[in-house]
Amino acid sequence: MSEIIDAVRAGASGETLAATPMPATTRAAFVRRDEQSMFEGVASRDKDPRRSLHVDEVAIPELAPDEVYVVVMASSINFNTVWTSIFEPVSTFGFLDRLAKEGYWGRRHALDYHVVGSDASGVVVRTGSAVRNWKVGDEVTVHCNHVDDQDPSSHDDSMLASNQRIWGFETNFGGLADIAVVKANQLMPKPTHLTWEEAAINALCNSTSYRMLVSRNGAPVTQGDRVLIWGASGGIGSFAVQHVLNSGGIPIGVVSSASKAATLRELGCEFVIDRQEKDYRFWKDEHTQDESEWRRLGKDIRALVGDDPEIVFEHPGRSTMGASVFVAKRAGTIVTCAATSGYMIEYDNRHLWMKLKTIKGSHFSNYRESWAANQTLIDGKVVPPLSAVFSLDQVGDATYEVHHNRHEGKIGILCAAPREGLGVSDPARRAAVGEERLTIFRRHNEE
Ligand code: NAP
Repeated sequence: MSEIIDAVRAGASGETLAATPMPATTRAAFVRRDEQSMFEGVASRDKDPRRSLHVDEVAIPELAPDEVYVVVMASSINFNTVWTSIFEPVSTFGFLDRLAKEGYWGRRHALDYHVVGSDASGVVVRTGSAVRNWKVGDEVTVHCNHVDDQDPSSHDDSMLASNQRIWGFETNFGGLADIAVVKANQLMPKPTHLTWEEAAINALCNSTSYRMLVSRNGAPVTQGDRVLIWGASGGIGSFAVQHVLNSGGIPIGVVSSASKAATLRELGCEFVIDRQEKDYRFWKDEHTQDESEWRRLGKDIRALVGDDPEIVFEHPGRSTMGASVFVAKRAGTIVTCAATSGYMIEYDNRHLWMKLKTIKGSHFSNYRESWAANQTLIDGKVVPPLSAVFSLDQVGDATYEVHHNRHEGKIGILCAAPREGLGVSDPARRAAVGEERLTIFRRHNEE
């Protein structure tokens, strides 16, 4: 460990941290360019992140004027780390090579390794010369929207920027490392009542679900709206449930086991469908869907909540989209941000146009939305769905768990933090939010 990490761990002041030397290298999790074809001919399911993700020392790049170095106390596994580690749907080295074309600072990213990770909590240890609102010693969380704010296309909604990227997926130097490189406009205050690992797991998924279900850029929920949420105890789903409840809506959570259903109920989701138990077969075979199965899901939803859902929170993609379009209420919205099971989607368009439904695409969130989503955590209105914690050295195992849908909520990764449970600077606030609520996913996972 370096002096700067020791100093952060010891709770050194900003002044001391600024005077402590930076190391030339950091421990980081990465995939290798010379291994990007290693899974050719292997079925998706069998592509093993434990083989492709490596943890070793890598060089820390020069800091651009609008960036900071963050000592990462904790990070998390997102599904994009699964995608990078199995080189699907494309190798992420192509993203790095495109970024390199943007000039001097972009060129730093096109290396023979890609340091992954799109979440972090930690401490700022250096600021670039153009950083104004943050200083060394600040405790932060990091959202993953990476934009060049000198590009006019980024000024309205930065998710519309032509050079918008996801940090640690479409850029190098991500959060699964002891030291990360972050643009100052990715920083947000760390909620003081959360541990490092609880604070690290939210920004990507919480912000995504916030944009989809709260922001005017998505399909904002209004009081009484019924919202069908696929994967409701997963990463984005567990935040979606909380945002719907906070907006006065009625979440109908779909999960695939009784234990996940129990977690959801404790989170406050009264209406839960266990898709495993129901055994929906939306596809008869690879090419043919079964409308009677869509209808069965629709009936199950009506039996639970009395009507069709005004909003469907979509992300499984190919396996569920036909059903999602069918069950949405007349004039309802299917808001989608992903296609885990396949992106070549098929649905019956008659159900869309005749019933005046809308499919709305959504992707991560802009800084304002991420900040507002972070505020829901600070206010204790949303709790982190942390179910398990792994060390950085176990990043392959943790990614394997997510790839095989063996987790609930989010998996945290300890980076520079020496152990779990550290980082709470306001225990009174933690008590007010409630230890029970803060540990719902952890307790259910350990049962
Ligand atoms: P996750 O933690 O793995 O949760 C996904 C959940 O979806 C699983 O828990 C599973 O729940 C459900 N699921 C998986 N396959 C399914 C299928 N074939 N049919 C029905 N349900 C299925 O992942 P996540 O973090 O929530 O991310 C979900 C997807 O969104 C990923 O593809 C990810 O890349 C994407 N994403 C996109 C953005 C964006 O900004 N565009 C942001 C975050 C995530 P059950 O088995 O319990 O039903």
